[in-house]
Amino acid sequence: MVEKQGSIRHVVSVKSDLKYKVAISSELGRYMIAAKDLVPGEVIHREQPAVVGPVAFYEGSLCFNCLKPITVTTSKILRCTKCKVASLCQLACELISGFHSDAECELFQTTDPCTHEISKHPGTLLPLRLWLLHKSHPEIWENILQMEDHINERRGTPVWRDRNENVVQILQKFGLIGNDGTELLQRLCGILDVNCFELRSPDNSRNHLLRAIYVDAALIAHDCRGNTHLTVDDEHRLTIYASAFIAKGATIYFNYTASFLGTVERRESLRKGKYFECSCELCSDPYELGSHLSSLVCPRCRKGYVVNQNPLCVDPYGQEAKWQCGQCKSLLSGKVINTTLNLIISMVDDSAHNNMEALESLLQKLLRTIHTNHYLALELKQKLLTSYRGELSTVNPEKKLLKKMFDLCKEILDVLNITEPGISRLKGITLYEMHLPTAMLASKSYSACEITSLELVERLRKAEELLEKALFNLLLEPATTPEGRLGKRALQELKLLRQNITDVEALTRIDDDHHRSEIQCK
Ligand SMILES: [Zn+2]
Ligand SMILES: [Zn+2]
Ligand SMILES: [Zn+2]
Ligand SMILES: [Zn+2]
Repeated sequence: MVEKQGSIRHVVSVKSDLKYKVAISSELGRYMIAAKDLVPGEVIHREQPAVVGPVAFYEGSLCFNCLKPITVTTSKILRCTKCKVASLCQLACELISGFHSDAECELFQTTDPCTHEISKHPGTLLPLRLWLLHKSHPEIWENILQMEDHINERRGTPVWRDRNENVVQILQKFGLIGNDGTELLQRLCGILDVNCFELRSPDNSRNHLLRAIYVDAALIAHDCRGNTHLTVDDEHRLTIYASAFIAKGATIYFNYTASFLGTVERRESLRKGKYFECSCELCSDPYELGSHLSSLVCPRCRKGYVVNQNPLCVDPYGQEAKWQCGQCKSLLSGKVINTTLNLIISMVDDSAHNNMEALESLLQKLLRTIHTNHYLALELKQKLLTSYRGELSTVNPEKKLLKKMFDLCKEILDVLNITEPGISRLKGITLYEMHLPTAMLASKSYSACEITSLELVERLRKAEELLEKALFNLLLEPATTPEGRLGKRALQELKLLRQNITDVEALTRIDDDHHRSEIQCK
């Protein structure tokens, strides 16, 4: 392992075929920098996972080999014919190459018959798999041991106690790991929590969450805006793309948190999950680079916005924080801000998904207290958008609804342009959803003789432009993911839309010629 040296960064690895180099600094540890200028959409790195398994809090049964959820009752679960422990989705799954490795199967074969009960504790699987690498892949194991574990920060905390009860003690009970392995297992649990990438399940279900370790990709540094776009395909292969232009020598970043969170929430999630204080540009600016994800409407002047002028303080609702209106300079206590936000959180959480009117009136009510881009307003807007989407599929959606849908998407896109400046999945979806009402409104207006065919072409061209931009943002998505499928649909719709535009243009020309010949006749 290379020692950290002062604050000066230096490059520690140069492989000529890589598009990134590994640098080291006291602030970031080991991290990736661009080995050359990188353009948006360019592949920076591709990697197979070292280990894949369910998250620590996984509930239910899953196939040890292909990792698909198993829905049958425990008594009927099929098991690997060799070890009689590993649960399988179907017997044929044993024959395909998957994640139930020979090392794992052999270890299970040496333990007592009741070990199959381990499938009731899926959270133990990933730490066990990581540990097994010492035997099966010693070269990867060397890399794993270099990873950050934050064991000292974790010792004695609730997460430590949880892993002790739900991982260490269980693996020891089944004799899969010796009693002297406690410290090492806790270290491995730390390595997993700090370095894993969460994988989205193909069906997007929240209770089927997997995570994986990618040894090289784990070096990517964090920034709340990032300059990369990550995808994982069906084989769990990770690809890192440049989402924006990255100059040679610049740091390669990925956003470990969600983009629709306020500074307080992002920093808290990074502090708790990754053990560092983020001081990126987005976190350091009280106005979050103009996105206003955490701004509140000033209750005194009602014109300005109340923001934390000291965004990097450790306790955002304590003494150090300075919640102040940018206009009238009034100060509000952190306690009041906290209470207000908690109240809004419960209102947003309790709001019904499908009641459009109720969601609209709640949004209006909340906008008296929070900025229209506040992350809680955005959460509500997402719910509202879902209910609009439902209405869109009805036979003849109202013009008013189409306009509202477009405006809502536009508001979300404006925030995304700040928080996800390059290629972005969310931007792709939002742009796609903006093209729908644009095209539908144009056709409706034309049918009602409110616009000429020339104006219709103009409006359809706008829809075309939105669809092209949507496609640009969705193009990198693997074909089997929901966004990959959306990209495919967008491509088909683009073809249809272009045909539609050509047809209307041809009609316009015929009309024009007809009109001209009529004039000449006169
Ligand atoms: Zn399977
Ligand atoms: Zn087996
Ligand atoms: Zn940040
Ligand atoms: Zn004010």
